[in-house]
Amino acid sequence: MGKKLNTPLTRVHIFGAGLAGLSAAVYCLQRGFEIRVYEAANHAGGRCRSFRDSILDCLIDNGNHLILGGNRGIFDYLRLIGADRGLQAVPNAFPFIDLKNAERWTLQPGNVKLPFWIFLPHRRIPGTHIKDYLVLKKLAAASPDSTLTNHVDPNSTMFKRFWEPLSNAVLNTDAREGSARLLGKMLELTLLRGPAFAQPFLTPKGLSAALVDPAIKYLAEHKCSITFGARVRSISFSGSQVENYIVGNEVVTCRKNDHIILALPPNEVAALVPEVTIPTKYHPIVNIHFKPNRLCLLPNDVPFIGIINGMCQWVFRKNNLLSVTISNAKDLVEQEANILASQAWQEIATIIPEKVIPLPPYRVLKERRATISQTPAQDILRPNSYTKWENLHLAGDWINTGLPATIESAVQSGQNAAETVEKSQIKKFP
Ligand SMILES: Cc1cc2nc3c(=O)[nH]c(=O)nc-3n(C[C@H](O)[C@H](O)[C@H](O)COP(=O)(O)OP(=O)(O)OC[C@H]3O[C@@H](n4cnc5c(N)ncnc54)[C@H](O)[C@@H]3O)c2cc1C
Repeated sequence: MGKKLNTPLTRVHIFGAGLAGLSAAVYCLQRGFEIRVYEAANHAGGRCRSFRDSILDCLIDNGNHLILGGNRGIFDYLRLIGADRGLQAVPNAFPFIDLKNAERWTLQPGNVKLPFWIFLPHRRIPGTHIKDYLVLKKLAAASPDSTLTNHVDPNSTMFKRFWEPLSNAVLNTDAREGSARLLGKMLELTLLRGPAFAQPFLTPKGLSAALVDPAIKYLAEHKCSITFGARVRSISFSGSQVENYIVGNEVVTCRKNDHIILALPPNEVAALVPEVTIPTKYHPIVNIHFKPNRLCLLPNDVPFIGIINGMCQWVFRKNNLLSVTISNAKDLVEQEANILASQAWQEIATIIPEKVIPLPPYRVLKERRATISQTPAQDILRPNSYTKWENLHLAGDWINTGLPATIESAVQSGQNAAETVEKSQIKKFP
């Protein structure tokens, strides 16, 4: 890797400047390929970005994103673009509150080789038993067609207090339907690998500053810019090759050694190349950002807290903002913004130590296609990076990386696509 191949110059046309497209771009550059990046929107970052909000008059993220120490793909990507200091490690603990009875607890990842902590009642989730934890390690080997409920009792306290919030957060899918294997894989790479791998990281200066802008800078330093407002509209094939594509109003003919990486959401790929198999179902995420007129800390000044038996699932504090995340929000996404905000603020008011304060200015953000649905039936529809066309490759969090559709998967898929370009070059020019 990193070595230029002794072949005619490889040119890679990348569509989409979300994290998958940006990752594909930096890993292609690393291989010495010439690249062109086209993005339909007028900004990069896709589903993971920051923007200035006119109501709150400050920079906000399109949604709260949590990264864990075990997300090695993200850290490798950030190191490559010289930006591994943009993430902030926060206390290595996952605090929760149950709104039904105000019970609080904190999940703290312990030693994994000698997991004595599960024998200590005060370290376990209240109402759970040692046997509830034994399944954790087995899930990564679960069959691709099994759901969590094939392995865990859906009526147990462990289900309500651990599996439901985990499935919503990681799979953006109801725990009764979520893929056991995908969740098991995430656990294997993070919480079950030890405290360093479970370490939560946030982006105090925003998602774009941490994950997107440094990639744009890296591309610029390598004399590559992104063409914004450039939607790829069609792709034509000749035999086993992409022959040309239309971006904006321009028809671009591919040269002999050109490759295409589609780093687009599944529905966009299906519109361009109907023969590719794609997942067909999506789940929404709702985020509500509140800007109280004074600093409101969460209990014990934690940076985020998980909520059980509420509408809110997580509340984050970012500087003077309190931000709510509701994943798998199928039942709420059509609800009016003011109703969502009022209910969320009522719940927040019960957990913050401040005296009740009136509903502050807020912004409700609804990402209707936040991620694909991550049931076993949808998971098997995820295609690989390579396609039946020699010079067409795919990237995106929804590609078959073996990981849940998260930033880690997006970044990994970009690297995989760069690798498949390299491999097809080696095949052509041994
Ligand atoms: C609210 C929310 C919260 C989330 N929380 C987390 C979290 O806590 N942790 C985590 O790891 N992940 C989280 N995710 C998931 C994460 O954001 C995504 O996995 C990741 O951003 C996907 O990146 P991508 O590049 O695959 O796709 P996208 O970001 O969707 O990028 C695709 C890009 O293609 C562009 N495009 C579309 N059509 C065309 C076209 N025809 N031509 C050119 N360009 C086109 C789009 O404008 C977009 O920029 C969250 C997502 C959301 C929405």
